Amino acid sequence: MRNEWIDHEKTVTSDDPRRIPIKPEPKGPEGFLVLKGGRIFDGTGKPIHDGTVVLERNKIKAILPKESDDWSSEAKIIELGGKTIMPGLIDMHTHLTYTDWNLPVSIALNEADQTLRALERMRYYIECGITSVRDAASSGLVPFRIKEWVSKNRIPGPRVFAAGKFITATGGHAAEMMDQHNFLYGAVIEASGSEQWRNAVREQYSWGADFIKTGSHFSREEIRAAIEEAHNFNLKITSDAETIYIQWAVEEGIDIIEHPLPRTDETIRLMAEKGTEAIPTLIPYEILFKYEGGYYNSTSRRFTFSPRANIKLVKKMKKAGIKMGIGTDIIFQLYRYLPEIYIGELTKFLQLRYSNEEVLALATRVNAEILDMDDKLGTLEPNKLADILIVDGKPDRNLFDLKKVDTVIRDGYIVVKEGRIFIERHPDLTIPGKMEDIK
Ligand SMILES: [Zn+2]
Repeated sequence: MRNEWIDHEKTVTSDDPRRIPIKPEPKGPEGFLVLKGGRIFDGTGKPIHDGTVVLERNKIKAILPKESDDWSSEAKIIELGGKTIMPGLIDMHTHLTYTDWNLPVSIALNEADQTLRALERMRYYIECGITSVRDAASSGLVPFRIKEWVSKNRIPGPRVFAAGKFITATGGHAAEMMDQHNFLYGAVIEASGSEQWRNAVREQYSWGADFIKTGSHFSREEIRAAIEEAHNFNLKITSDAETIYIQWAVEEGIDIIEHPLPRTDETIRLMAEKGTEAIPTLIPYEILFKYEGGYYNSTSRRFTFSPRANIKLVKKMKKAGIKMGIGTDIIFQLYRYLPEIYIGELTKFLQLRYSNEEVLALATRVNAEILDMDDKLGTLEPNKLADILIVDGKPDRNLFDLKKVDTVIRDGYIVVKEGRIFIERHPDLTIPGKMEDIK
């Protein structure tokens, strides 16, 4: 969703879909970092090739052939010794603050605990080479504040692209029997009527939303108002919807549909025609069916579905040419099973007859496109942001090699070394002579 009033040659903007003009100043660590002699999977569709990636501060400066040593003599060099270097992975569907259900509600809804839960998850993501997460609803201001702290490199973790709160009609999905004792209280807005839907979008935008998250149920007028308002802000809008609600949302111009929930062939045809994108999140539903036997007792999931039906649906969507991305929708304690759970979602796409390399491109380039960040993320190309994953293996041959994370770089900073979070020692500063310098 490009803002035509901004000339990106002349104006520096925030590194998020909001594209808010910011004061131009250097970002990322000083100097050059050379990632030498790797197998480069650049995400553009080019075959894997040997070469070297040169970073300058928080950006990719050049991709060099393996014979080249065209870099500054002061550059810091990391020898890759044939490891695979690729764009950082993106998870398009998470909820950083959601509870693990066995907490008492007073702790589950406590903002300090929500923040700490989110930070713990951030560690799992970044150690798995996931350098961006799209938070599809969390409580309060937590995802926005964490996003800000990551962008200043004050805490380790992936970039956060946040929706803020989940917007639904009274008693809609995520707001069933909602009151202040509900585990999702604070993460959901129940809006009634188009003016309230419009205002709910404005509220999320004002706090920092990178996209807008809605869910059924809603009336046609309500979803239309939300879509119009999001698009006025040049933000994408997505919906966790099902059945007729998908049809209405697509007709009204929604950008993305989450989850593998039932829809008609006519809706799939319309999605393809209008370029509506999808984040199917197959793995959480597969886990739910495997361990619970079904999706029970929900007033917003009144339909028959199964893992087999989900695959069938997604196959139809692929055949229709609908752009689909990778998201895990990790809730409960499932983040503890990263990266297996993320790789599990990737392997579901192998069943749709994508190749390994195509699946890796979905997890990087295509996800960046759906995120509306493909001008800055998703591929290894000069001028893009330096979000990089180095794997001691060949994930293009075996996706499970993604478990062998060696180094992760986010915004030019090395944030994972030898598979573990890495934090530079804080600078040892001398107390300045003047009070003004301390403030
Ligand atoms: Zn979700």
